[in-house]
Amino acid sequence: MPEPATTTANAAIIRAQGIEKYYAQPSQNRIQVIAPTDLSIVPGEILALLGPSGSGKSTMLRMLSGLSQPSAGQVFWHEKPIANAEINVSIVFQSFALFPWLTVQENVEAPLQARGIPPEERRRRSLKMLDTVGLDGFEAAYPKELSGGMRQRVGFARALVVEPEVLFMDEPFSALDVLTAENLRSELLELWANKTMPTKAVFLVTHNIEEAVLLADRIIVLGRNPGHIRTDFRVQLPQPRDRKSEPFTNLVDYIYKVLTRPEVAPTAAPDQTTGKVPRDQRQMHYQMLPHARPGGVAGLLELLIDHGGKDDIYRLADDLAFEIDDLLPIVDAAQLLGFLNIEEGDAAITATGAAFANSEILHQKELFREAALTNVLLLRQIRRALETKSDHTVPEEFFLDMLDEQFSDDESLRQVETAVNWGRYAELFDFDASRRRFILPEVEEETVAAPEAE
Ligand code: ADP
Ligand code: MG
Repeated sequence: MPEPATTTANAAIIRAQGIEKYYAQPSQNRIQVIAPTDLSIVPGEILALLGPSGSGKSTMLRMLSGLSQPSAGQVFWHEKPIANAEINVSIVFQSFALFPWLTVQENVEAPLQARGIPPEERRRRSLKMLDTVGLDGFEAAYPKELSGGMRQRVGFARALVVEPEVLFMDEPFSALDVLTAENLRSELLELWANKTMPTKAVFLVTHNIEEAVLLADRIIVLGRNPGHIRTDFRVQLPQPRDRKSEPFTNLVDYIYKVLTRPEVAPTAAPDQTTGKVPRDQRQMHYQMLPHARPGGVAGLLELLIDHGGKDDIYRLADDLAFEIDDLLPIVDAAQLLGFLNIEEGDAAITATGAAFANSEILHQKELFREAALTNVLLLRQIRRALETKSDHTVPEEFFLDMLDEQFSDDESLRQVETAVNWGRYAELFDFDASRRRFILPEVEEETVAAPEAE
């Protein structure tokens, strides 16, 4: 499907041009949080902004909604500078942000009151909105008497009652349990699809890949340091969307890959009509070590065993009270080591993974060593170099130079740091931090030199 032509009907409601955000530092250096960015919010679409935590999603939302000013660049509301425009937006936050001393109805009326709407109309509109979001009967309740899901319904009612032209949402479902979140998502979609709300565009900030693919017409993925757009594409799957369909899972996999490989330029999104993944997305890059600790991998595998050997990675993240993007590197590491497979968003433990998780610590180290030498190129290279050199030490620089070809300087350092972590755990090598050199642990030499001889 081609991009819709820019007609008057989808001229931008909000248009950001070269917006940046930086924070002053005492040391004169400034921290750049958002790199110069262009972005438009057009009528008729749900736009999801996806990215790891700290990538600047909330900062972007605040600038686009007029809550904060960009350090450079400009935001336009219907082509007028936003500071001088009469804007009509609402924001739903993750943390409900209700007034605890007001009843449900008073909370929903509050923004109307702020806009000078007379009492009778306030009453009528708030009651109607409470009914729409399924809260009739709770008008006189106080927020503390409600469950998280109900409170977020009040948050939605309060945002929608002013009939915003653009509805902004910052991780609105992430404090809710899985079922409640799922219900609220479908209700929101229903309101949107039935045009029950006059809202013309929705801007959703999330770090949940599936949520973005479920809801959005367009997805923008932010990268961090500083925040920048890595990819921007349309989701063309018809609503309601089926999480299990091949085009859906392909799209989730695609975004997952973009998010976990910040050093690789994203390829085009997969074709959503056929569900086919273009070949070039499978092309090999220099393998990247996910920044996870061996202990984290072991913990994840143990939890998977508790869950019958296979579970949805979002549910795992939930159970661990992890942000999904903190869990992803661990899942990735386990996958790289051959300890688990990802199938349709489910993580399934492999036989080696189960053996590793069920072993005593000493045997665990052996299994990890084997898995690492078989699957992880960088560890194999370090080990080989140490065995080859007569003094059994190699400077860090040697590997940094090699990694610099593929990664940024920062990422190269993190690659080495992770390699040191894994190598030490596996007793493959040690690292002398004062001399910045890798060393072969002599005591272990005999046993380690021939790990396959067992
Ligand atoms: P996200 O919503 O994607 O998690 P945020 O927009 O909240 O990210 O933050 C982006 C980055 O900006 C983070 O690294 C955060 O530490 C930084 N940041 C936010 N506010 C400030 C501030 N007042 N001073 C300095 N850095 C800030
Ligand atoms: Mg945020």
